[in-house]
Amino acid sequence: AKILWNDQIINEEEVKIGYEDRGYQFGDGIYEVIKIYNGNVFTATEHIDRLYESADKIQLVIPYTKDVMHKMLHELIELNEVQDGQIYLQVTRGTSPRQHNFPTQTVESVLTAYTKETTRPLAQLQNGVKACFVEDIRWLRCDIKSLNLLGNVLAKQEAISKDCFEAVLHRGETVTEGSSSNMYGIKDGVLYTHPVSNLILNGITRKVILDCCKEVGIPVVEEAFTKQQALEMDEFIMSSTNAEVMPIISIDGHAIGNGKRGELTEKIQQAFESKIPMSIGV
Ligand code: PMP
Repeated sequence: AKILWNDQIINEEEVKIGYEDRGYQFGDGIYEVIKIYNGNVFTATEHIDRLYESADKIQLVIPYTKDVMHKMLHELIELNEVQDGQIYLQVTRGTSPRQHNFPTQTVESVLTAYTKETTRPLAQLQNGVKACFVEDIRWLRCDIKSLNLLGNVLAKQEAISKDCFEAVLHRGETVTEGSSSNMYGIKDGVLYTHPVSNLILNGITRKVILDCCKEVGIPVVEEAFTKQQALEMDEFIMSSTNAEVMPIISIDGHAIGNGKRGELTEKIQQAFESKIPMSIGV
């Protein structure tokens, strides 16, 4: 498969990454994951905008305009003939002799992007998944989609080791988000989710879900809720580019609602589905 390496699309064997790349040594960079449905990039503008926002927040300069970035990614998808899958892209602060502070001379950032064929998690979207609580020990700039993911990695690993699909992160009693997803609870017909702040990633799927709620008439309250309130929700959802609108049917072994995908969750899924380019049914 072809890889986008800076402004070139080349064979993967030809990609050269320096051992002193700051992404490799410090996690000093940012990334995005974008979904491809039926050959179309889904919410590409939102993802590219967030990439440039993350870059700004760490004073990293991406040496391409957003237009050029869109064009390069489209070219990559076409060359790789991806129908259903995803693009992973990252930008690091480049390669220079190891030191914590930014390189003093002008060093170009390093862009890599590649595609992967994936299928939608249809069975899980219907049956729901299990989750568990994990203390959110990450830093205080979770709004940046940074390559530094050790807190997220450890949380996900803990979930997997407990036979769960995702970790529901909490700072003290307050639920923040998932290790690679946003979290929502539905109680008495109202959808609750943590407000956009430095404590969560402003998920693109989160935005789509809030639009879906508006469309189907589900009131949204962007307010944090506690672990205890989470367990008392009628329905629970996690969302991400890959997991879409995923029902969570239990947390730490406690069933949420009746332990099955809820009615309003299904409504939101249907609204989401209608936004997918040339969708197939859940
Ligand atoms: N929070 C975190 C920590 C994530 O890693 C992700 C997935 N990238 C999300 C939320 C969901 O974001 P999105 O819907 O843009 O994929």
